[in-house]
Amino acid sequence: MTDKALIQSICDSPVTRHQFGRFQFFLKRDELLHPEFSGNKARKFMSLLTGNYRHIKTITSYGSPQANSLYSLAALAQIKGWRLEYYVDHIPEFMQQNPTGNYRAALGLGAKIIATNNEAHGFLRPEDYIHRYLPPRDDTLIIPEGGRCELARDGVSALAYELLAWIKENQIRSPVIALPSGTGTTALYLHQIMKMYHIPVITCACVGGKDYLIQQFLSLQADSYPTMLELPKKHHFGKLYQENYHIWMQLYHQTNVEFDLLYDPLMWRCLRQNEAEYSKMNLIYIHQGGIKGNESMLPRYQRKYPDIDKLAFNQSPALSPDT
Ligand SMILES: *Cc1c(COP(=O)(O)O)cnc(C)c1O
Repeated sequence: MTDKALIQSICDSPVTRHQFGRFQFFLKRDELLHPEFSGNKARKFMSLLTGNYRHIKTITSYGSPQANSLYSLAALAQIKGWRLEYYVDHIPEFMQQNPTGNYRAALGLGAKIIATNNEAHGFLRPEDYIHRYLPPRDDTLIIPEGGRCELARDGVSALAYELLAWIKENQIRSPVIALPSGTGTTALYLHQIMKMYHIPVITCACVGGKDYLIQQFLSLQADSYPTMLELPKKHHFGKLYQENYHIWMQLYHQTNVEFDLLYDPLMWRCLRQNEAEYSKMNLIYIHQGGIKGNESMLPRYQRKYPDIDKLAFNQSPALSPDT
């Protein structure tokens, strides 16, 4: 495929219709954009694919060795013939011995993954190591963790315009757009376009809570935010909550769609808690990808809750909804 044909194929993801409990909802299938370069990281990094970066040879980034952005950047680098150098704090021994998920897939795509919290790298945090030891170079792009940067705006805007066209074409009344947030970049850039059309965007803070998310919005020069939903109890990113696994299973059984295990369960728990309000509207949920990450998350859940499959469908009182 030529570059142009490839770029044209990575857009216009389908929208499907589903039922989950009392929610009749539409699902924007960004996880289907491309086999390896998909989800919201594909949207956020799209301008790197389409823009003029002929002088670039290497991209440098950092984050968790199981991050979805590691895999997406590795796929992007492979498509463009670039080198990816990805800095992480450390790589757990178990993961090195048994690579799975995003980590394995990124290695398979040729990513160079470098741990910095060791003697050879001065026990530094990845971000500090990059700033201290990697001088700026014309042929190297440094991408902040998770793609939290202005560079993400164009790709997320393209998603917004696809949604607007679809809403218009299908004459959807009182739409509301839902998506969980990590850095909040996707939700904020979507909100900034949708608010001009008076379409609400709702999200939840999966990393660090509401205050952290507001900080992230502010660092992106936000002057208004998407609506943030919250559970009554604090939620820790990456922790194996039984309720998260439970709702993920229920979603899978009722919709036949595999959602991501890190972000989507919290958004759905928040939606369910606000069911009276949002099930009356036309909910459009954005599937932001992350399925590759389930390869490492799911076995951890299965080990921790071996009996949940039975419980999930018996409506056990121990597992009733969050409220
Ligand atoms: C990265 C990611 C998010 C969070 O996106 P932000 O733009 O950082 O808020 C949500 N879901 C999935 C599956 C992701 O990979």
